[in-house]
Amino acid sequence: MATAAPTTHEANDASAVKGSVSLQSLTKSFGEFTAVRDLDLEVAPGEFLSMLGPSGSGKTTVLRVIAGFEEATSGTVRLSGVDVTRVPPHARNVNTVFQDYALFPHLTIAENVGYGLRVRGTGKAERVEQVTESLRRVRLDHVADRLPHQLSGGQRQRIALARALILRPQVLLLDEPLGALDKQLREQMQIELKQIQREVGITFIFVTHDQEEALTLSDRVAVFNNGRIEQVGSARDVYENPQTEFVARFLGLSNLIEAALAEELTGDRRTMSIRPERVRLQPASDPLRDGDVGLLGTVREVVYTGPATRFLITADAGVELIAEQPNAHHPAHEQALGRGDHVRAVWNPTHAARLP
Ligand code: ATP
Repeated sequence: MATAAPTTHEANDASAVKGSVSLQSLTKSFGEFTAVRDLDLEVAPGEFLSMLGPSGSGKTTVLRVIAGFEEATSGTVRLSGVDVTRVPPHARNVNTVFQDYALFPHLTIAENVGYGLRVRGTGKAERVEQVTESLRRVRLDHVADRLPHQLSGGQRQRIALARALILRPQVLLLDEPLGALDKQLREQMQIELKQIQREVGITFIFVTHDQEEALTLSDRVAVFNNGRIEQVGSARDVYENPQTEFVARFLGLSNLIEAALAEELTGDRRTMSIRPERVRLQPASDPLRDGDVGLLGTVREVVYTGPATRFLITADAGVELIAEQPNAHHPAHEQALGRGDHVRAVWNPTHAARLP
């Protein structure tokens, strides 16, 4: 279910909504093609919101409309309660961090970070002080005199962030900023990004197509599909209670039990979505515990993934199921399971989401 952003402030009280973003009936077309259709979204001040969705689903377009790089075809964009739909990008109190960092190659790191202040006419002493503080925040004050090519990818990413934050925008837009980093660095940067966002208290709107990244970082996740938001809610909400088949499938693995079989198992004729980690495997001869439901089947594949083991089951009822158990508390009978074994895949329907 969609969770409403806590933005109940009066629209004319600018201080109360400082940093809020409100999109109403936003549509963006490119010629005949509609990239974003009739989209509503409320982002609260200081919130970390991720826009998650497959390639081409309209995330970047929404970000560009918020920044003012694209003009909305129809609908309204409000920043801090003020209608900025027709306001040019430089007059909006937002900043954007791009995936390619866009640092000036011939300026030092300190000059890159201080560039925006310089354009604004901030005096030199003030500039030096703010640049130092900003570099310290991203823990890179020791590279102030280097050129961008003398830094690693992760360091350049942090500089791009420092350069955006130094202007103290009310809203920071981040377009796949960690996309170019390898997995390990990316995970490290995710933690740092979250820490920095907490420290500065600025509203972050973060575009990604990496579901784990969105779940890890965000207060709320907006799941995009085909120019629309399918669902918006906390990470736990969109993961545990997907409202559509698309959301269930896009956010990790999910077992979808179609309506007729769901009715047979539970009496409720709605498609059931159950996550693999909620499915246990027990010997076929063991009885069901009270409240549980289960399907008899055959183990088709056992996949070791490091922290967990994944079992692919073909149920006698015809459906394919995935069960995943952490290797740390892997029941003994499951450790011994191999291809061809008969099992009962069991779960509690209260752990399943129902799709309307
Ligand atoms: P990705 O994750 O690949 O960046 P996305 O969800 O950010 O995807 P958008 O970049 O917003 O998707 O694109 C949405 C759709 O709009 C795509 O089909 C894209 O081809 C189209 N589109 C984007 N910009 C333009 C443009 N300037 N002219 C025409 N079509 C465009």
